Amino acid sequence: MKQRTVFLSFGALFLVATLVLSVLFRITEQVFLPDTAADTEVSERPVIILDAGHGGEDGGATGTNGVLEKDLNLSLSTGLATLLRLAGYTVVETRTEDKLLYSEGTQKGHKKQGDLTNRLAFTEQYPDSVFISIHMNTFPNQSCEGVQVWYSQNHEASKAWAQAVQNQISTLLQPDNHRKIKAATSNIYILRHAQTPAILIECGFLSTPAECERLCDPQYRQALSLAFFSAITEKLDSKS
Ligand SMILES: [Zn+2]
Repeated sequence: MKQRTVFLSFGALFLVATLVLSVLFRITEQVFLPDTAADTEVSERPVIILDAGHGGEDGGATGTNGVLEKDLNLSLSTGLATLLRLAGYTVVETRTEDKLLYSEGTQKGHKKQGDLTNRLAFTEQYPDSVFISIHMNTFPNQSCEGVQVWYSQNHEASKAWAQAVQNQISTLLQPDNHRKIKAATSNIYILRHAQTPAILIECGFLSTPAECERLCDPQYRQALSLAFFSAITEKLDSKS
């Protein structure tokens, strides 16, 4: 158990170092080699909408150590947004604070729906975008581990986005993660209604004590963000 933890820590550290170099390389490229073709390409890239799930009075899932999903979602989303902006991508965050997004004056009982409607509105405001929602998983079986990505069935590109993230996670961080991406069912409101490519990343199981502890480690969250960053930038830069 200890050995595995040490291995994971070194693995995460190595990944962080490698990916930080790749981020720096991309940033250097953008800052110091501003040729016109590259500029055009940058402006044509879709906006990346990052959606930290839950917030405010809605804590989301509770981890085995008492951590609230909403806080981990926001931390991961914020870290990922920073990396993407540093590398020159356009990012919009649905929330940067600990709150739900329902409009002022929304009646009790309608707040959750108001929140989801307002999150969905970001995809309407930025039709040329990709919507990436960040969540944490739970399951009664306390041995479930690993990232699981869901995709919207509304836009044909969603599946490829989900696959890119799931692949990069297996390649860089979780070699034993053989999970298949899943088509979102109708109970994931935003993925059911979004007209842009849209995915939801369940970053790990808060119901599994070991994974819950890992997700509470800022270094591990950074490694996750870097793997997501790597998937997103590869997907956007491999002109498809
Ligand atoms: Zn959630």
